[in-house]
Amino acid sequence: MSRTTTATIHLGALRHNLARIKAMAAPARVMAVVKADAYGHGLERVARALDSEAECFAVAALGDGLRLRAAGHRQRIVVLSGPDQPGDIAEMQRLQLDAAIHHEAQLHWLAEARPGRGRLRVWLKIDSGMHRLGFAPECVAGVHARLAAMPGLDPEIGLLSHFSDSEVFDGEQTRAQIERFAEATRGLDGPRSLSNSAAVLGWPQARADWVRTGGLLYGLSVVDDKSGADFGFRPAMTLATRLIAINRIGQGESIGYNGTWTCPEDMPVGVAAVGYGDGYPRSAASGTPVLVGDTRVLLIGRVSMDLITLDLRGAPQAKVGDRVTLWGDRLPVETIARHAGTISYDLTCGMTRRVLFVEDEA
Ligand SMILES: *Cc1c(COP(=O)(O)O)cnc(C)c1O
Repeated sequence: MSRTTTATIHLGALRHNLARIKAMAAPARVMAVVKADAYGHGLERVARALDSEAECFAVAALGDGLRLRAAGHRQRIVVLSGPDQPGDIAEMQRLQLDAAIHHEAQLHWLAEARPGRGRLRVWLKIDSGMHRLGFAPECVAGVHARLAAMPGLDPEIGLLSHFSDSEVFDGEQTRAQIERFAEATRGLDGPRSLSNSAAVLGWPQARADWVRTGGLLYGLSVVDDKSGADFGFRPAMTLATRLIAINRIGQGESIGYNGTWTCPEDMPVGVAAVGYGDGYPRSAASGTPVLVGDTRVLLIGRVSMDLITLDLRGAPQAKVGDRVTLWGDRLPVETIARHAGTISYDLTCGMTRRVLFVEDEA
């Protein structure tokens, strides 16, 4: 019996999710966001699964664009942070990667760069209110004019902004960001892109020319109390392990590090071979649901590096060797994230090298 914790990646779910995003966002086109190793699902694996259907990929950094080109992908690839240093520009030109331009320093590097073969495609990134990356709205017209005058660039300049709160479907912040973006870009040519996954779900008026969806590709939602499945998406990852012990522990005895959970009666306590050393969140509190076979039970006590402990009073049939599911189809990762005080993206991104990844066509 293998003790290995396994992350199964469902390629069919990825394809289903991309098709659903396309249908929801049409006529907007879709950038499939595969940054952070495709939200922990594996960059090359996800890109291979989506290659024939994805018109465009988006990554955070040049290195991921390089990996996609090395794997043979030929579609458009947008680097959402653009060049990090002057030498990146020639490399982006060589690899035909689109560069987001968000800072004065990058304009300087572009102006100094010797035009290479092929024109670099750029997206002017606008800070419409998130205050992370982007030019202030009042600078946009001037920056646009400077980019338009640069000889080494493709004449079509994209216009890009990012929402800070789009999962709040009736929120003022997103409304204000949409307005500021419209004002800052009035009269400028070029394709526009504002929406992340939550905006595709809740802000149809912001779909513009391109949407940039990460979470929904993987079936993940960041909308309060909703899983991706609630919107018709399928989870692309199942994390599972095995039950390796069942012990009877007496009433009043405490379980695990620091004894944070005390048995209210004599009871069976299961031990499963997964822990924060695999990426299962240490912050998951007692009461977090776990599946043993098909039965929902609760985590009790602290998550340790290699092991978790389970209240098996509701699963009298459980036996050593049973499959234990930490998240997946019948146990949304969004639920686990809520119990751990984080979001689903954080959990799928957090798988460690100890986890065995396998692929499943379904
Ligand atoms: C990560 C990211 C996205 C994708 O966000 P999701 O919520 O995963 O859809 C889109 N745009 C930018 C700039 C990002 O950094």
